Amino acid sequence: MRVVFASRNRHKAEQVRLILTSLELVPLDEVAPDLVLEEPFDTFEENAFAKARAVVVATGLPAIADDSGIEVDALGGAPGVRSARYAGEGATDRDNNLKLVQELEYVPEDALTCRYRCVAVLVTPDGHEVVADGVCEGHISLEPRGTEGFGYDPHFVPVGESRTMAEIPLNEKLGFSHRGRAFRGLAHNLGL
Ligand code: IMP
Repeated sequence: MRVVFASRNRHKAEQVRLILTSLELVPLDEVAPDLVLEEPFDTFEENAFAKARAVVVATGLPAIADDSGIEVDALGGAPGVRSARYAGEGATDRDNNLKLVQELEYVPEDALTCRYRCVAVLVTPDGHEVVADGVCEGHISLEPRGTEGFGYDPHFVPVGESRTMAEIPLNEKLGFSHRGRAFRGLAHNLGL
């Protein structure tokens, strides 16, 4: 089955390809280069469905999307669905990480708990919709470490680990990450 991956994040696409091996994932730029994907809602699920539905309408093909982010307990769950634009519209990973460290500078280490969340969805042109989610608990390291991955990975230490997500090889990370769990769940719900 040909399915459009409704994201321009190459890290996400690489991860999803490693899990959904039986699908032909079509890059968004190949079929809808000018489509802008909005994330206007307050839940990961609503944003994921909004992105996938927009791609189905624009291309007439089935689409897979995810919406994801980090929830930091000391920040009341922020940045959450606003993780990509925590430091403002157009913010880079570096901007977002700098803001995170500034906000958490005076928080005691044992209160730096957080989690990554991911909601994965598939939408077909005939209106069939499937959803699955995944969570990965951890804590924030104020010192960044590692060069793998993207986003908040240099600051995210998963429970039971001493390495940050940016120090863990991708294949190992997918075994327990929020995105690994969400997309394996989606594959299961699709009967793949
Ligand atoms: P979105 O799902 O495209 O809205 O982007 C979510 C944002 O959350 C990303 O830009 C990252 O800042 C962060 N994020 C989500 N998943 C991950 C991950 O696996 N590693 C690092 N950061 C992530």
